[in-house]
Amino acid sequence: MQTFQYVKASNIEKALNAPGHAKFIAGGTTLVDLMKLQVEQPRVLVDINLLPLEKIEKLPDGGLRIGAMARNSDLAWHPIVKEHYAVLSQALLSGASPQLRNMATTGGNLMQRTRCPYFREPNAGTPGGYGCNKRTPGTGCAAMNGYNRSHAILGTSEHCIATHPSDMCVAMAALEAVIHVEGPKGKRTIPFGEFHKLPGDTPHIEHALEPGELITYVDLPKPVEGARSVYLKLRDRASYEFALASAAVVAKVEGGHIRYVRVAMGGVGTKPWRSHEAEAALTGKTPDAANFRKAAEAAVAGAKTRPDNAFKAELAKRCLVRAFKSATA
Ligand code: SF4
Repeated sequence: MQTFQYVKASNIEKALNAPGHAKFIAGGTTLVDLMKLQVEQPRVLVDINLLPLEKIEKLPDGGLRIGAMARNSDLAWHPIVKEHYAVLSQALLSGASPQLRNMATTGGNLMQRTRCPYFREPNAGTPGGYGCNKRTPGTGCAAMNGYNRSHAILGTSEHCIATHPSDMCVAMAALEAVIHVEGPKGKRTIPFGEFHKLPGDTPHIEHALEPGELITYVDLPKPVEGARSVYLKLRDRASYEFALASAAVVAKVEGGHIRYVRVAMGGVGTKPWRSHEAEAALTGKTPDAANFRKAAEAAVAGAKTRPDNAFKAELAKRCLVRAFKSATA
C-alpha cells in the first residue's frame, strides 16, 4: 500500500475543504481492499465517519431520507424500509456478510466498484500487466477475450464489459431514488438513473460526482399505495456472493391488471440496470406467465454476450419472470 495523508473531518464543511483529489472513507469495505491491491492510491484520505449523516427519517411528503452514513444493516432493518420498501431491505440483506453490512454505508454502496478480476490485479493497466481501460484508458480490456463469466451483457462497450456489483443500487433504481450531493460549488440532486455512467469509451468515469463532491443523502419517493416489491438474486452460492442475475420489481395490480411497475436488474449490467422496456411491456397487462415472459424478453433484447457469460441472458429472463410473479401475487 502507498503512503497517504489521513485526515478526520468533524463536519461537512471540513470534509468539503479537502483537496479535490482526496478520497472520502466511511466504512472502507471497498476502498481499503482496493488500496491494498493498489487499484486506489489516494494521497489524501478524509475520514467522514464523524459526519452527522446517519439518520433515516420520513420526509414531509411521505418519502424517506437516508443519510449517506446510514449503515447497510441499519437501513435494511429499519421498520419503514422493511414495511414500505421491502425491495431495498431484501437487496441489502442479500449482499456481502453481516459484518460487512454493519460497516458499509449507503454512500459507499453507491460508489462500489466492479469485481472484474482483471481490474483488481495490482499491475492491471501497466506495461506487462493485464489490459484494463478502466484502470488506464487505452490499455485494452483483458476480459473481452479472457475470463468473462461474471461480466455484463447489458450496457457494455468495446472498451469495457465490467458488471456493476451492488444489490442496493438495483433496488434504488427500481424505487427511483434521488441522490443529494454537496461540493465546492454547492448542493445539487442527481436522479438515480443519471448517477452511474455507461462505460462507452470512458470506462474510467463511473459516476456523475464532480471532484470534491460528497454524497449527503438519498431520498426515496413516497411508496406507491397498494404496490408490492421484491428483490430476487441468483448466484453461485446462497450467501456472501455477487449476483449472476438479480431483479428488483415494484408492482401494483388493480382490477386484474398491472397498473404500476418498476423493474431493475443486477449482475447483468455495467450499471444498475433499469428496464423501461419491461415496464412498458407489463403496464396495463394481466399478470400472467405469457406477459411475464414477453416483458423479460424485452428487458434482455439488447444483450451482447461473450462466450463465458452467454448463459446470463436466459438466467436474467427467468429471474425476472420469478420476480414478476412474486411481486404481483
Ligand atoms: Fe478492465 Fe472493464 Fe475490461 Fe474488466 S471489463 S478488464 S474493468 S476494461
